[in-house]
Amino acid sequence: SLVTRFAPSPTGYLHVGGARTALYSWLYAKKQGGKFILRIEDTDIERSNQASVDAILEGMHWLGLEHDEGPYYQTQRFDLYKEVVAQLLCEGKAYKCFCTVAEVDAMREAQMAAGEKPKYNGMWRDRTDHPTDKPYVIRFKNPQQGVVVIDDMIKGRIEIANSELDDLIIARSDGTPTYNLTVVVDDWKMGITHVIRGDDHVNNTPRQMNILAALGADIPKYAHVPMILGDDGKRLSKRHGAVGVMQYRDNGFLPEALINYLVRLGWSHGDQEIFSKAELIELFDLADCNRAPSAFNTDKLLWLNQHYMKTLPPARVAAELQWHLTEQQLDISKGPALEDVISVQAERVKTLKELVEVSRYFYEDFPDFEENAAKKHLRPVAAEPLALVKQKLAELTQWQLAPIHDAINAAAEQLGLGMGKVGMPMRVAVTGGGNSPALDQTLLLIGRERTLARLDLALA
Ligand code: GLU
Repeated sequence: SLVTRFAPSPTGYLHVGGARTALYSWLYAKKQGGKFILRIEDTDIERSNQASVDAILEGMHWLGLEHDEGPYYQTQRFDLYKEVVAQLLCEGKAYKCFCTVAEVDAMREAQMAAGEKPKYNGMWRDRTDHPTDKPYVIRFKNPQQGVVVIDDMIKGRIEIANSELDDLIIARSDGTPTYNLTVVVDDWKMGITHVIRGDDHVNNTPRQMNILAALGADIPKYAHVPMILGDDGKRLSKRHGAVGVMQYRDNGFLPEALINYLVRLGWSHGDQEIFSKAELIELFDLADCNRAPSAFNTDKLLWLNQHYMKTLPPARVAAELQWHLTEQQLDISKGPALEDVISVQAERVKTLKELVEVSRYFYEDFPDFEENAAKKHLRPVAAEPLALVKQKLAELTQWQLAPIHDAINAAAEQLGLGMGKVGMPMRVAVTGGGNSPALDQTLLLIGRERTLARLDLALA
C-alpha cells in the first residue's frame, strides 16, 4: 500500500516550504488511503537540536498533519545503517577509499585546472592493496555506464548519465553514515512508495536510486516540489518576514487558512480558491502541481484568513483565539461570549491577533479615550445626546438589539440630530475610540451595566 513520508532535518523551525511539502505528502497518503510517516533526520549532530524537533512536531500538530507512524529519529538507527554499509561492502558494491583530504583536494584542483568538473576519480575502486593502519571512508560503487531516469511525478522525465556521478561517500572515516545513505536505507526499510520533497534534493535522487538498486530495493516514485519565492523573486527566506509555521500562528493566522494557502501555492484545481481539508483529500493530485516556483503572497493569505474567521464555526475560531488571549493577557471571564464577539468582529479584521486587539473594550474598561476620536466626537457638543441616550437606555427593561437600536434612534429624532451626531459620540464614550461594529451590536455585547457606567464617565 501507499506510504509517504516527511523527513525534516531539525535545524530550525518548521519552514512554510517544508510545511507545504509535508502537506502534499500527507494529502497524497490520505487520498489513497495510505500511510504518512514522520522521520526526523537528525544525523547532523552539530546543527540538530531538540528545540527544532519540538518546533516541527508543534507545527505539524497545529496544522493537523498528524503522522500515522513515527516520529522516527535517524540517530536511533545507526546500527541499521552500519549493517547496510557492511552488506554493500561485503557484496563488493562499496569499497574502502584511503585517500586523504589533501589528496582529494589535489585531485579536484587538477581537474578544475584542466577545465573538468571536479569529481572523485575512483582511484580506490578496484584496488586491493589496502593499508592496515590508515583511516578510510566507504564509497558506493556507482555504475559507470548507462543513465538514471527519474520519472518525476511533477517535473516529468529527468535523465542523468552515470558518468556524471562519482562514487559517493556512504560512511565517514569514523564509521558514521552519510546523509544519502541514511535516506536510502530509511526509504527502503520504511517501505516508502512515494518520495515527495523539495526540488533542492533532485540532484540527490539519481544517486539514491542507484544505491537502492544495488540493495535490490523497490525504487519509490519521486515528486520534487518546486520552491517558494518571496515577493522579490528570490527563494523565500527570513529576509521576507515570517517563514516559520508557528510564527504564522503567533501573527494571528488560522491553520485552516494556512493549509488552504499553502496547498494552492503550487497546486490548483480549476479556479477554485477555497478548499476544506476533506475536499483537498478528495481533489489533490501531484499531477496538478506546478512545475515552476510559486511566489508567496501575504495579501492572499490575509484574505483567506479573514474568510475562515468569518465562515468557520465561531466555537472553532474561539478555540484558536485562546492562545492570543493569553498572549495579550485579556481576561474574558467578565464579558460577552467570545463566539458573539467573533461574529461581529471577524469581518472587520484580518487576523486573530487583531481581533483580540480591537475587542478589549468588551471585557475591560479602557484607560482613556483615543485623543483624536474624543476631540472630534466627544468633547465639543456631545453632552446633550449622550445624556438623552443614556436616559433612554437606562429605562429599557430588556437589553436586546431592537430596543437598544430604537432607543438610540428615538434620542436622535427627539434632538433633531442625524445619526452621526449621536452615534459617534456614543461609540467613543463606550468603546474609547471611533471604530467598532454597529452601535447597537456593540452596546448589546458590552452589556447594560458597563454601557451605562461608561456613559456616566463620559458625561462627568
Ligand atoms: N532531511 C531533508 C531536508 O530536510 C529532506 C530529505 C528528503 O526528503 O529526502 O531537507
